[in-house]
Amino acid sequence: MRTATAGYFDWAASTPMRPEAVDAMMPFLTEHFGNPSGAHGAARRAARALDESREIVAQALGAEPGDVVFTAGGTEADNLAIVGSIRSREYRAVCSAIEHHAVLDVVVANGGRVIPVDSSGIIDLEALEAALTPDVAVVSVMLANNEVGTIQPLRRITRLVSKRAPSAVIHTDAVQAVSWVDVADLARHAQLISISAHKFGGPKGVGALVVRRGTRVHPMLLGGGQERERRSGTQNVAGVVAMAAALHITVDEREREVKRVTALRDRLVDTMVATVPGVTETVDRDLKIAGNAHILVAGVENEALLFLLDRAGVCASAASACASGAMDPSHVLAALGVDRAAAFGALRLSLGFGSTDVDVDHLLGVLPGAIAQLRGN
Ligand code: PLP
Repeated sequence: MRTATAGYFDWAASTPMRPEAVDAMMPFLTEHFGNPSGAHGAARRAARALDESREIVAQALGAEPGDVVFTAGGTEADNLAIVGSIRSREYRAVCSAIEHHAVLDVVVANGGRVIPVDSSGIIDLEALEAALTPDVAVVSVMLANNEVGTIQPLRRITRLVSKRAPSAVIHTDAVQAVSWVDVADLARHAQLISISAHKFGGPKGVGALVVRRGTRVHPMLLGGGQERERRSGTQNVAGVVAMAAALHITVDEREREVKRVTALRDRLVDTMVATVPGVTETVDRDLKIAGNAHILVAGVENEALLFLLDRAGVCASAASACASGAMDPSHVLAALGVDRAAAFGALRLSLGFGSTDVDVDHLLGVLPGAIAQLRGN
């Protein structure tokens, strides 16, 4: 039987919901529909579910339940972390050059500083040190990159920041990291951590920002004062319950999944590099998350390749943005120093909890032929 995710290699963009998350959320869409801020039985049922979910999320991320602020996804969590930390325009934010736009654009729009990375995507620690002036309120460095998969040396970064700019807080966008690394451990010195449910088997439009006790984040949304005044708006109870259920399973099976998916990813990339001339890996596998394969295919336009793959039932991604009528390589590949011509052959193949050997076989059955067709041989 063909599954819904057969041929799906875009798990970094979104994942299907885990059945357990669907089951967990259903009652909160129907019989337990109360507003958790109310003062009656229906409200208390919803509030209890929120509390239980908060505990699960906190435990998975190495935080206290009171630290968890539920948001409407990763973008909102990232925005809240940066905007909420800057407080006034005299304070600055600093981030790496390969952050997701949900961080990068906020930092740039508020006059912050963008720190270069090396050819693997690792932040330049010397440049970071030079940027850590007393007006820096927040340093935002993602735990794992969404495009090329690089894991940042967060411990070294936090050591540097606490030495050079002790009043600055560290934010890490862990949206792509949750399925593959122990966020509770690696981000234990970050005061702010963003996650997004739809990257690990939860629903879209729900996420969380960890705000550690003692860290002040000014709210962006004002209103009913929910989430301890840090994020007004009636909570998405069903979404939060589903996120917690998905996160619990994700953390529980992570070690096994990292091994399984690493083997799939390695077979995929090794075969491509060995059998198709002009295919190279963008970033060393030791430096990145298990679910990410990122290759450069010489002499091929990725948009055309994606079209052929799509026709053959394969969903993949190229991270190029169409700017001013011309295709520009992504800001991530530009920051890594990948030259323009090579960047047009960039292909991201991301794997996840539903990826199988059959998917990899299928991809290996169509990708070399599609490349040959576009090269005209
Ligand atoms: N941060 C990273 C690293 C991401 O990959 C994404 C989504 O692609 C986001 C933030 C935004 O999350 P959401 O889609 O929940 O707004």
